[in-house]
Amino acid sequence: MSVHYTFTPDAPLTRRNTFRIAAHATWLVEIHDPGAIPEILARPEVKSQPLLVLGEGSNVLFTRDFDGAVLTFDTRGMEMLENDGETARVRATAGEDWHGLVRWTLAQGLCGLENLSLIPGTVGAAPMQNIGAYGAELSETLEIVEAYDRTCGESVRLSRAQCGFSYRQSVFKQQPERWIVTVVELCLRRNAPLKLDYAGVREELAALNLAQPTAADVSEAVCRLRRRKLPDPAVIGNAGSFFKNPVVSPNQAAQLQSEHAGLPVFNVPDGKKLSAAWLIEQCGWKGFREGDAGVSDKHALVLVNYGCATGAQIWSLAQRIRDSVQEKFGIRLEPEPRII
Ligand SMILES: Cc1cc2nc3c(=O)[nH]c(=O)nc-3n(C[C@H](O)[C@H](O)[C@H](O)COP(=O)(O)OP(=O)(O)OC[C@H]3O[C@@H](n4cnc5c(N)ncnc54)[C@H](O)[C@@H]3O)c2cc1C
Repeated sequence: MSVHYTFTPDAPLTRRNTFRIAAHATWLVEIHDPGAIPEILARPEVKSQPLLVLGEGSNVLFTRDFDGAVLTFDTRGMEMLENDGETARVRATAGEDWHGLVRWTLAQGLCGLENLSLIPGTVGAAPMQNIGAYGAELSETLEIVEAYDRTCGESVRLSRAQCGFSYRQSVFKQQPERWIVTVVELCLRRNAPLKLDYAGVREELAALNLAQPTAADVSEAVCRLRRRKLPDPAVIGNAGSFFKNPVVSPNQAAQLQSEHAGLPVFNVPDGKKLSAAWLIEQCGWKGFREGDAGVSDKHALVLVNYGCATGAQIWSLAQRIRDSVQEKFGIRLEPEPRII
């Protein structure tokens, strides 16, 4: 076996997905050097087989074993490429932990990632769904994605515009079979204005007695909010928000608001965003449990595995939730994690 990668047959994935679903992969390939990707893809265990690139598995649901090769990165590396005193270009490899990168940039005195603190997962997965939280999205600071393009068999550098980012969307998510992300480059500033106007950030900073917060303070506030609001996957299996917040036309939003008092509606560039959590809670699912599959009692958008639920049981519950929201509100919820 090469020093650049490791192959393991019939590999358990239970500790490689945050739902803690007990699935197996026919082959697990750990990549130590992205330069070996062409060689790995040419090997008989991988060639012409289904392929899945897996980070920390915090946004996937395995409904069955994966009959193919699962590729995962253990590459490490974060560096500052350019630094003119005001802006800096930062490069990080796919295998790095996302929150580790956020903390490292803050320690360098750079801002821009503080609202994205504590999102689980790897750097390589971050562009997939243009991760977002607390009023910020990755696309605001991302400059370049380096990825192996399986259609042309080459490594390419994609600019932000070429990544096709929108809410929880990108070209990588649209064509997951095509792209293997190896590196992300970000442009961060030393003195960017802080984003404080989202879901309790200001209140949390006030509770911490921080009248003139720094980016590191905002990160701390976001971490505290997230720890309070979301179940910790280390304690109870989950993949964060299970459904995307639906975006509807202004007319449909107004109609729904007239029929359902209290429906939260937010302005977004392409229409009106509704709260999927609110819709699900109104259908009575918050805190629901059937066997070991359930809906968090902390947050109606988070499906949980209390222990031994199968991926099929979680998926079946998700479909029932989706159907009930469709029946009550006429809105079709779309899952956020990748369903395998
Ligand atoms: C408690 C909790 C809270 C969360 N909160 C948020 C949140 O606030 N905002 C948010 O946006 N997300 C959130 N998520 C979802 C998740 O953390 C992110 O989507 C994260 O980026 C997934 O990273 P991962 O390494 O675990 O990817 P995985 O789950 O392993 O993979 C996700 C997708 O990316 C693909 N992928 C992974 N790595 C690569 C690569 N190198 N190249 C190509 N494709 C790749 C996979 O094939 C899959 O399609 C949350 C999840 C949890 C469990």
